[in-house]
This record gives sequence, C-alpha cells and structure tokens, in this order.
Amino acid sequence: MLVVVVLLATVLMRVAIVLAVAYLLLPRGSLCPHCGIEMVALRNRFFDRLLPALQRRWCIECGWDGIVRRPPPPRAVPTRRRTPSPRFAPRPTLR
Ligand SMILES: [Zn+2]
Repeated sequence: MLVVVVLLATVLMRVAIVLAVAYLLLPRGSLCPHCGIEMVALRNRFFDRLLPALQRRWCIECGWDGIVRRPPPPRAVPTRRRTPSPRFAPRPTLR
C-alpha cells in the first residue's frame, strides 16, 4: 500500500511540475509576443471560469492568437500626502 501511495505522490508531483513549467512558459500580459502591440481579449465564459489565471488573446496586427497569463491588476496610484497645516507644524527649537 505504501508503494502505491509513494508512486501516486510522485506522479502528482510530476504533473504539478509540468503544469507549473507550462504556465511559466506562457507569455504574460496583453502585448503580442511577436509584434508587441496590444492584443484583443477573446472572451469564453467556460474558459474564464475554469482557468481564471489564463486568458485567450488575439493580435489584430499579425494574427497571433493564443493563451497568455492574465496581466496583474493595475496597482493603485499612491495619493500624495497632504501637507500638514501650520497648526501641526513642528515648533522651532529654542536656543
Ligand atoms: Zn502580433
């Protein structure tokens, strides 16, 4: 029984490694890997729900279409800090 568990674990680890490498080999983002322009996202309700980390895209310029890693969401632009009002400004030091 232990042999079966060990063999099953090694098979599962191999599958995980293959899937991880295949995921990392996919192009990332919305730019075409051939010509570098913005590609159009092709929506597929079933595919989007099954693999939300991946996205199918099509390049209008060169016709490349394929699966890419979904680009990360845009980071929030940090807002500038308000300058403290003079009421809370540090006091001048006495000499
Ligand atoms: Zn292209």
